Amino acid sequence: MTTHAPQAGQAVTLPTTLDEAVAALAAMPAAVPVAGGTDLMAAVNSGQLRPTALVGLGRISEIRGWQYQDGHALLGAGLTHARMGARAAGPPQIRNAGTLGGNIASAAPTGDALPVLAALEATLIIAGPGGARREMPVSHLLAGMEMLRGGELIGYVRVPLLHAPQIFLKATGRTGPGRAVASVALVLDPARRGVRCAVGAIAPMPLRPLDAEQWVARLIDWDNNRTIVPEALHAFGEYVAAACIPDAVPGVDGSVPELPPAVLHLRRTVAALARRALGRALS
Ligand SMILES: Cc1cc2nc3c(=O)[nH]c(=O)nc-3n(C[C@H](O)[C@H](O)[C@H](O)COP(=O)(O)OP(=O)(O)OC[C@H]3O[C@@H](n4cnc5c(N)ncnc54)[C@H](O)[C@@H]3O)c2cc1C
Repeated sequence: MTTHAPQAGQAVTLPTTLDEAVAALAAMPAAVPVAGGTDLMAAVNSGQLRPTALVGLGRISEIRGWQYQDGHALLGAGLTHARMGARAAGPPQIRNAGTLGGNIASAAPTGDALPVLAALEATLIIAGPGGARREMPVSHLLAGMEMLRGGELIGYVRVPLLHAPQIFLKATGRTGPGRAVASVALVLDPARRGVRCAVGAIAPMPLRPLDAEQWVARLIDWDNNRTIVPEALHAFGEYVAAACIPDAVPGVDGSVPELPPAVLHLRRTVAALARRALGRALS
């Protein structure tokens, strides 16, 4: 482990193992972990954050790769978007630096990894003091049901190997890479004859349209090349969109007000993404 002081009063510690990083955070409770720095440095540059010490995670090789274990893939939190093949996550410099762990810890609604992990029902392996490890569903962290305790780090993300197509589509509102206006992750789970879908960017955390998932899973002919009639594909898109962006609440006279045009547009976008995602997964 090495320590630098690039600016007066700011120490940067560069541990080479996860446990060293946790120990460094325990020794300096005011220190902030930094991985690729794409979110953190934006906060520093805008004056929102003034950390007196940083614990850099970039030299921890154990979290920069992945391995297979008990029917799951164990993804290191230090994997970059580029190494995960996430071609739509920002411009190349962001994809080369930004990490999976940073994406999760930032928990921005536009985080591209988040709907994917929600659809996969992924869990986090959290490293704590004294070599402790605990596991929690990603959705618990994103919903605020469980938090990272002081000095803890996201070490790995455990995702099931489903041996079936997994699709992520996002709409950005502009050409080229950009932050999502809406996104849809969809995975097939042939062993359970299930479809799992999560909609990102339109709410503070990814939304799971559970009724739509169960409804459409029953319409797929799992024994016949996973086929579905086109009308069901279309209806699935509408079902997902209406579940995530419901109609306005009826007024006292019972009439239902029209949704504003921008919301209707977003609903149509989500419907199109969900329909296409399921179509591609089944094709
Ligand atoms: C121009 C631009 C475009 C972008 N476009 C996209 C996009 O299209 N899609 C997208 O998803 N994101 C996008 N981002 C956001 C960003 O790149 C991602 O959120 C990235 O994955 C963050 O990872 P990082 O390693 O850079 O995190 P950092 O900036 O290093 O850290 C972010 C936060 O996570 C914490 N942290 C980091 N690693 C850990 C860990 N292992 N355990 C606990 N806490 C940790 C840090 O303390 C900090 O609070 C964009 C950012 C920019 C600046």
